[in-house]
Amino acid sequence: MDFKDTTKEQALNTDQADESGSQRRESARLPEPQHSSEGQAGEPITEATVVVENLNMYYGSFKALKDVGMRIRRHRVTALIGPSGCGKSTFIRSLNRMHEIVPGARVDGKVLLEGDDIYAKDVDPVRVRRRVGMVFQKPNPFPTMSIYDNVIAGIKLGGKRKKTELDNIVEKTLRQAALWNEVKDKLKDGGTALSGGQQQRLCIARTLAMEPEVILMDEPASALDPVSTQKIEDAMEELKKRYTVVIVTHNMQQAARISDYTGFFYIENMGDPGQLWEFDETTKMFSSPNRKETEDYVTGRFG
Ligand code: ADP
Repeated sequence: MDFKDTTKEQALNTDQADESGSQRRESARLPEPQHSSEGQAGEPITEATVVVENLNMYYGSFKALKDVGMRIRRHRVTALIGPSGCGKSTFIRSLNRMHEIVPGARVDGKVLLEGDDIYAKDVDPVRVRRRVGMVFQKPNPFPTMSIYDNVIAGIKLGGKRKKTELDNIVEKTLRQAALWNEVKDKLKDGGTALSGGQQQRLCIARTLAMEPEVILMDEPASALDPVSTQKIEDAMEELKKRYTVVIVTHNMQQAARISDYTGFFYIENMGDPGQLWEFDETTKMFSSPNRKETEDYVTGRFG
């Protein structure tokens, strides 16, 4: 199956996956998110929501990523940049086990979400994907559903909720996704009747409705016009107040504008696996990076 088959991926990213996904594992669950200032063992939670250690990724015998380590800061936007094929999508998918829909894809190494090992034996990947939501490159609202029903599609599968509660969730998440004002008078219209940029913001709202801790975005604006792109960038400031955001982007200006931290992925020699070549605060990465390849890339000398 094509790795970028977003329809299947999206289905897996909602509770529908729970019903139909072949990945389903029995019962073991990640604990509920912790919103206190202390970790489970009474330790202060560090500034990182996600800690990645020694991550290697393979498609069959092909090694796509080598020895990646990263600390993804809470309530910050982290941008992932680098030339095509160096493993950015592969990496972002490892953060919610989305790569597992590709036969033969596997990882070794550690990904800790608020201290919980998402690859621990018996952890349910569907549960992981609730805590770590994903927005894809191509907007993919459910075609037969209204705007309103699209937003609540995932949470409705989790059990019955009061109408007023659902109304509140729809308004809150559409506001956070910077779409409310454009759709508040036509919530019963079909989701696919919206423009591409609006559809993408609808998909963001749908992801937010699941109350994730982390939102992964894989080039969410690459297929959009500049006005829609701007709206998504505007929403980012609001989003990071409540969520931790990781975004893959090919647009250097966008990375510089919206992110707090930037990771540059790079392949040293043809055929080698991708590596996290440099990771730092965005201002540093774009003004005085430590490595020459990073500087060449951010200044547009290759890519
Ligand atoms: P990027 O997002 O940086 O463009 P990808 O993560 O898409 O890079 O790809 C990294 C490497 O993994 C590339 O060599 C790509 O061909 C390979 N790859 C990606 N998806 C698959 C797949 N489904 N099966 C086999 N190889 C894949």
